[in-house]
Amino acid sequence: MSAERRLFFALALPAKLQKQVIKWRADNFPQDTGRPVAAANLHITLAFLGEISELKADALTRIAGRIQAHKFSLCLDDIGHWPGSGVVWIGTKRAPNALLQLASVLRSHAARNGCHQSTLPFHPHVSLYRSATRPVAIPPATPNWQLDAEGFSLYESTYERGRTRYRCLQSWPLADIPAI
Ligand code: ATP
Ligand code: MG
Repeated sequence: MSAERRLFFALALPAKLQKQVIKWRADNFPQDTGRPVAAANLHITLAFLGEISELKADALTRIAGRIQAHKFSLCLDDIGHWPGSGVVWIGTKRAPNALLQLASVLRSHAARNGCHQSTLPFHPHVSLYRSATRPVAIPPATPNWQLDAEGFSLYESTYERGRTRYRCLQSWPLADIPAI
C-alpha cells in the first residue's frame, strides 16, 4: 500500500459561515447547477501539495509551524464560474496582502519540496459547485460575507464511497496585528 497522502493547506470557513453559504446557495442557484460542495468541505485552498510521502509531509508541517503571518479579514464579494474546471465559486475582489503573502510562502515552500505548483496566478476562492460544465445563471452578488482568518490548516483529502472528505491534520494560529 502506498503511504502517500493527498494534502493541501487551506483556510476553513467557520461553521456559522458554512451554514449561511449553504442556505444562500440553495436559494440562489438552480438545482441542476452541478455537484454541490458539502458544507464541511467549504474552504479556501492556499497551496495544493498533491499526493506526497510522509517524509515530505513532515518537512512541510515543520515549515508551516515556523511561518510568521498575521490575521486578516476578507470580504466574499465576488462570484464566478470557470466552465473549464466546472467550478462555481465565491471569492474576493480585494485579496488582503496578508492572504496573498501566506499563500505565496506556502506555495514556494511546496514547490521547493517538489510539489508541483500551478503556473496560474493564485485566485483565492471557495468552490460552491464542481462539475458545473454547462452555462450557469450566476446571482448578481453575494451577501458580502466577511471571513476572519485566525489560522490556517493542513488537510488530507480522501475519496471513499463516492465522497470526498477532508481531514484536518494540523492547524496553526495567525498572529495578532501589532498595535501601532
Ligand atoms: P473532488 O476532486 O473529489 O471533486 P476536491 O477537488 O475538493 O474534490 P481534491 O481534488 O482533493 O478534492 O482537492 C483538494 C483541494 O485542492 C481543492 O480545493 C482543490 O480545488 C485543490 N486542488 C486540487 N487539485 C489541484 C491542483 N492540481 N492545483 C491546485 N489546486 C488543486
Ligand atoms: Mg479535485
